[in-house]
Amino acid sequence: MSTDPNVIVGIDLGTTNSLVAICDSRGPRILGDVQGNSMVPSVVRYPQAPNQPEVVGTQAKLEATLFPRHTVSSVKRLMGRSRADAGPDVGYLGYEVVAGDRGAARVRIPAGLGVPERVLSPEEVSASILKALKAQAQTALGHEVHKAVITVPAYFDDAQRQATRVAGRLAGLEVVRLVPEPTAAALAYGIGLPRVGAKPTNVIVYDLGGGTFDISVLRLSPGEGDEPYFFQALSVGGDTHLGGDDFDHALVEAMWREVAPLLGVPAATTPSPGVAKLLSQEAERVKILLSSAEAALVRLDIESIAYSRTFSRSELEALIGDLVERTIVSATRVLEQARQALAGEPIDSLVLVGGSTRVPLVRRRVRETFGLEPYTALNPDEVVALGASVQGALLSGARSGALLLDVLPLSLGVETVGGAVAKLIVRNSTVPARAKEFFSTSVDGQTGIRLSVYQGEREMAADCRKLGEFSVSGIPPMPAGVPQLEVTFAVDANGVLNVSAVERRSGRQASLQVVPTHGLTQAEVERIEQESFRHAREDMTRHRVVDLIVNGKLDLKWIGERLAKHRTELAPEYAAELDAGVATLAALISRAEQDWQSVDANQMHRAKETLDRASMKLQELAIATSLRERPRQV
Ligand code: AMP
Repeated sequence: MSTDPNVIVGIDLGTTNSLVAICDSRGPRILGDVQGNSMVPSVVRYPQAPNQPEVVGTQAKLEATLFPRHTVSSVKRLMGRSRADAGPDVGYLGYEVVAGDRGAARVRIPAGLGVPERVLSPEEVSASILKALKAQAQTALGHEVHKAVITVPAYFDDAQRQATRVAGRLAGLEVVRLVPEPTAAALAYGIGLPRVGAKPTNVIVYDLGGGTFDISVLRLSPGEGDEPYFFQALSVGGDTHLGGDDFDHALVEAMWREVAPLLGVPAATTPSPGVAKLLSQEAERVKILLSSAEAALVRLDIESIAYSRTFSRSELEALIGDLVERTIVSATRVLEQARQALAGEPIDSLVLVGGSTRVPLVRRRVRETFGLEPYTALNPDEVVALGASVQGALLSGARSGALLLDVLPLSLGVETVGGAVAKLIVRNSTVPARAKEFFSTSVDGQTGIRLSVYQGEREMAADCRKLGEFSVSGIPPMPAGVPQLEVTFAVDANGVLNVSAVERRSGRQASLQVVPTHGLTQAEVERIEQESFRHAREDMTRHRVVDLIVNGKLDLKWIGERLAKHRTELAPEYAAELDAGVATLAALISRAEQDWQSVDANQMHRAKETLDRASMKLQELAIATSLRERPRQV
């Protein structure tokens, strides 16, 4: 195994899940295990018999109910705390928490067959999780890892931070820095990173996970000397027992109110542990489905009954509305507390962290409350670990920001019918950059428009890098070309791209957010540039042929429809001239569709022009008729 002494990984040591990431020339990325799982549940199971291994992660979590007293989860709640201080939390934990030296919280694992009782510090338990993450990183990278940046909640006090450092050391890691979780989340989006002309920026980080809610207002300022940036928490708050698990619970209660009568028990009775588990698993599944679908089916076989019903998103929203409002009240209060420190400055950015920020109601309320479009491009479960790795790269000198430039390295655009790319923002534009363009449909009665966003210099989408796609749906049926889709591309100062699309007639809209430079190296940008030079002439011709195909087809459709309607009114020679023009263009289009290189673009252009000119008379006739046929307005 080779050793790269400079590598500093980023670790999100979470209450329920932990992750490890690296930031290299490709930008930050999560290091997963061989099966591609990235999250390591923060759960450790201790042996009950000699020769049994310590088990960390998914397996320990899945088998937790089988070994409740030997399985330790949520140990982060005990880090650096006394047994007395941790008191209110202990009730939630399935294992035994005792007071150790000077009252410090300790975990007691009962004796097993031939295994003595053990009393462990929370640091030791956390170290087991960190060791598992370290091993996962080493396997993914193929070399040893000795250094890490570890994230901690913004509210962690000295004792809790010190405990985290000790855990790192016990895991054989040099903890080069502890970074507050909200700061890491901002760094993952490039907020606060050193760049030319950087100014202090104020950020709200709204973090709603499974069991905890944290809200922080931060100021990130450009650094000096070795310090890439300075960070200041203006105010923090939250609720250590509020999160997605409570959403699940609200849904469980709603289901139980309907299931209990079917089982012949009053709804006030508590479901058995087995039934409770089934209900809560189903509740989480349905909740997650409702983040992307409008309705989801619940289906449960409990004892002798089969329970099935559909939950709509609005039903879920009614059940969790109060819980979401609690986070909003708390967030507003924290923002109020920051007002003085902000001294009239605005909040520049809003970052969402935690799996529960995928809930549409949460996003909507947060957006409404702060009047800002939140950063959501990165996976909200991964953003803290990614940011920790960015800090690691800054500290090790492996400049993360190789591509965090003040200009866009590659052009950005959308795919149009026929597979060409319409570039909205061209390469080398300075950021922030903004562009707007109108598009329409190519098929009559089209009620949805899918937009694919690309990055690159080539003319065809197939030769560019796809950044993502989204759809505007629910457009009322209209003839092709009538809907007006206004597409806006906005790249902010941090290089994050927001694409929004609104159909002007119906008001239907949708949007997408991506970080275009993620996963892209300087070398790749150069290769893409070279390729575009090499293919420039061929690409231009191809783009022209594709446009001729699309526009020619629209002509053929339009002329064909009117010819059918008005043929009897036309002079036979004129009808024959049009028929011939249509046949010539149709043949060229069909050949071009088989192989674009088999046609001469100029010849195709001439055929289209000839037909367009010839069809003028037909056009006049059609307009005159449509005016005659138009109903009188009342
Ligand atoms: P975290 O602690 O950040 O890993 O967040 C975990 C919480 O996010 C759990 O309550 C999950 O049920 C919830 N979660 C994950 N994905 C989704 C989703 N797509 N929609 C709603 N909640 C989700």
